[in-house]
Amino acid sequence: MTDNNVTEIKEKKGLNFIEQFVDNDLKAGKNGGRLQTRFPPEPNGYLHIGHAKAICMDFGIANKFGGICNLRMDDTNPEKEDLEYVNAIKEDIQWLGFHWNNIYYASDYFQQLWDFAVRLIKEGKAYVDEQSSEEIARQKGTPTQAGTTSPYRNRPIEENLQLFEKMNSGEIPEGAMVLRAKIDMANPNMHFRDPVIYRIINKEHHRTGSKWKAYPMYDFAHGQSDYFEGVTHSICTLEFVPHRPLYDYFIDLLKEGKDLEDNRPRQFEFNRLNLTYTVMSKRKLLALVQEKLVDGWDDPRMPTICGLRRRGYSPEAVRKFIDMIGYTKFDALNDYAMLEAAAREDLNARALRVSAVLNPVKLIITNYPEGQTEEMEAVNNPENEADGTHTITFSRELWMERDDFMEEAPKKFFRMVPGKEVRLKNAYIVKCTGCKKALDGTVEEIYCEYDPTSKSGMEGANRKVKGTLHWVSVAHSLKAEVRLYDRLFSVENPSADERDFRELLNPESLKVLDECYIEKYVMENMENRYLQFQRIGYFTFDKISTPYRLVFNKTVGLKDSWAQKK
Ligand code: ATP
Ligand code: MG
Repeated sequence: MTDNNVTEIKEKKGLNFIEQFVDNDLKAGKNGGRLQTRFPPEPNGYLHIGHAKAICMDFGIANKFGGICNLRMDDTNPEKEDLEYVNAIKEDIQWLGFHWNNIYYASDYFQQLWDFAVRLIKEGKAYVDEQSSEEIARQKGTPTQAGTTSPYRNRPIEENLQLFEKMNSGEIPEGAMVLRAKIDMANPNMHFRDPVIYRIINKEHHRTGSKWKAYPMYDFAHGQSDYFEGVTHSICTLEFVPHRPLYDYFIDLLKEGKDLEDNRPRQFEFNRLNLTYTVMSKRKLLALVQEKLVDGWDDPRMPTICGLRRRGYSPEAVRKFIDMIGYTKFDALNDYAMLEAAAREDLNARALRVSAVLNPVKLIITNYPEGQTEEMEAVNNPENEADGTHTITFSRELWMERDDFMEEAPKKFFRMVPGKEVRLKNAYIVKCTGCKKALDGTVEEIYCEYDPTSKSGMEGANRKVKGTLHWVSVAHSLKAEVRLYDRLFSVENPSADERDFRELLNPESLKVLDECYIEKYVMENMENRYLQFQRIGYFTFDKISTPYRLVFNKTVGLKDSWAQKK
């Protein structure tokens, strides 16, 4: 075996199952050596982390093999679609780091699809049905039992043509008629039981305006759009497996007589992403937004791309997560903790370390001169020396975390305890001398004395002190609001629960701390989206943050605290 072969086998192992198909097709010279994929969202909502999985596949495979990937809006239902969504989809794909070759719209093919439908009618392969959708559903039968034939199935061709025209001219009310493909009411594949291919929608389309009243169903547009565009590998999720023969059926009819070489788009399916403690259905996400159960599509608790962005995720973290879970042929439920682990790994490498006190109590260093200050050196990122250092101002009065003090502490509590020494990060070793309490027992102030010879680098700094605490100077810090987030839902798999998903929301998914203090250095870094509040976790400026009102979102903690809580 030559070295070359070894590399090839190694690379092959690194390919997922769809990439292997593509690799083989290209090597076999199929489609004239072309590779063309597309990402086909319906612009009826914002993209979520599940879409990111599809995006990484569709764009990633084109990048990997030197093919092209287009963006196509499957905009066949003006009832639910909107320009707002079209724009948000574009923004999110770009943010994830991908670029489409062309942008197409299924609505660009409305005329072609219409003409094809007319042709089907003329060939006796489609008919106008006047039954209600409920009635049609009732007649579908079951996979083992044939459906019932519609009384309109054998309507004369001429009449079908006239009625189809009327469906599109506004003369027929919504829901009164549909066009159905005449295929096979006994087919074991339910999608072949005379599927509805056109319905009436009396609503302006965001691109075609009021030109059309009859709109193609998704299943009559999706596969054919792929064909019109010359898609070679039509990649989608597993629920489309049973639709594949129907798409092939329509394309065979479209191609009739010409172009008999098999250059149809070939469909490949992979497993959808499902995540614990959240939902991925656009219908449910939209309901959360419309019913104001969350703060918009980009609420930091939402599984949307814009939500993750506002939460402080980087595009690299999202892509890393998609890489971690991989692509298979089996549906599964992925642990939300894996997404957080990806964020943690990514942020550890890039976040700027700053000091912030979220639950403050005052610490007074009684032997430090009043009015004196010192600039202490703080490392920006221990993972990357090139990020350098900044200074943090030290003074007699500091804020420290309330939880870092105990008057009577168990042995293993290596933080602030009367009579014991502890190190203040980047500064001195101090010994706690006591505290002042309110009548109800709340600690109001903590007192300590510092050892002036214990600054890092000095000789007194060398003695062993177990705990190191973060702090900020009272006079040199800024007040901030900090928003802490937990799982949006309190059950692991809300989609599998019988209760309404609204009842399953975690009432404690948002906690707002409105009196936090943070070192001033953050103000010079409002452009930096990735911060670590030392000893606490990763944070980012919220979009509403201004120099006059600082608001931070917690991205993720330093450790997986959820695993312990469970
Ligand atoms: P809806 O929730 O309205 O049914 P959808 O989630 O299927 O919609 P589309 O806009 O139709 O959303 O999806 C665009 C593409 O993203 C499709 O190819 C679809 O297979 C893929 N996709 C959607 N959800 C997921 C998911 N959870 N995991 C992986 N891919 C997904
Ligand atoms: Mg869909």
